[in-house]
Amino acid sequence: MIIGGGPAGKTAALYLARYRRRILLVDDGDSRARLAPHSHNYPGASEGVSGQTLLAALDAQLRAYPVEMRRGLATELSREEAGFAVTVNDRRLAARSILLATGIKDHRPEFEPHDPAVIDGLLRYCPICDGYEGRDQRLCVIGPAEKAAGKALFLRSFTASVTLATTDAADALSEATARELAELGVAVRELAPTRPLLRRGNTLVVSYRTGDSEAFDGVYPALGATPGSALAGALGAEVDEAGCLLVDERYATSVPGLYAAGDVVSDIHQISVAIGHAAVAATSIHNSLPRAPAPQPPL
Ligand SMILES: Cc1cc2nc3c(=O)[nH]c(=O)nc-3n(C[C@H](O)[C@H](O)[C@H](O)COP(=O)(O)OP(=O)(O)OC[C@H]3O[C@@H](n4cnc5c(N)ncnc54)[C@H](O)[C@@H]3O)c2cc1C
Repeated sequence: MIIGGGPAGKTAALYLARYRRRILLVDDGDSRARLAPHSHNYPGASEGVSGQTLLAALDAQLRAYPVEMRRGLATELSREEAGFAVTVNDRRLAARSILLATGIKDHRPEFEPHDPAVIDGLLRYCPICDGYEGRDQRLCVIGPAEKAAGKALFLRSFTASVTLATTDAADALSEATARELAELGVAVRELAPTRPLLRRGNTLVVSYRTGDSEAFDGVYPALGATPGSALAGALGAEVDEAGCLLVDERYATSVPGLYAAGDVVSDIHQISVAIGHAAVAATSIHNSLPRAPAPQPPL
């Protein structure tokens, strides 16, 4: 059973279907890729590709294979004699092996309507993905000072105009970080505690604690994320300090028979990385299960 139908889950389903394994893909339809407006770092897509187009292409590819798909939320993962049992839409389903491709959930700023601002490229969650498209633009990072500073410094490679708007006190910055920000000309301000963001056409206006505000071409929340690792955590699977699943070179978690791939795994959170994980994890699962030789053709 594959839990999670983003790029990782769908790629693993493709591989396992082609290994002629019996697969159930369970997904509740909230892939982060859904909000990727136009990815320009997906290998082979010279014109760029939207996350929705990519997900639809994966769906179309899977339709050629006998992959059972179920829309719903998987809850209550437990170990059973022959493998695992999972509750999906109040039904208990069994599987020999489980792949968790459940992604992460970004913590969002206080701002509505959220998704249109992401699709329009104003609210951005991934400097690795679209820093290049932000070159020479006015960019702002919002979040707890020390944590968000890393993202602001990363963005400094793309533009000279970077502001760090802190959700805590600006003097929560360590001396070393404050010095590096100053040396690179990153402005540091404190974010207004309420209604910090406002859309004005194709800009986002950021309000400061001091009462003034500033318009930006792009705002990057650095408010953290919650990995979809709770199901595995309940079985004692090891996670890192951020809550992402720790896996070995076969993408096996510390719980035998339970594998993981994509954003939920401790790694950089990219589509190309997620599909790479999925290829390895699917092959490990196939090789870990009893061989299922193709039936002999009738004489
Ligand atoms: C705005 C934005 C832009 C991005 N742009 C790019 C880009 O340009 N290039 C790039 O490489 N990456 C980009 N990313 C990152 C990329 O989207 C992720 O790295 C990728 O989607 C990870 O794939 P995944 O399959 O691991 O997780 P997801 O795509 O998040 O899929 C996880 C799936 O699991 C489902 N799920 C979770 N828990 C359960 C459960 N208990 N039961 C059932 N289903 C469950 C979710 O609903 C979801 O469908 C972007 C992300 C965002 C937010």
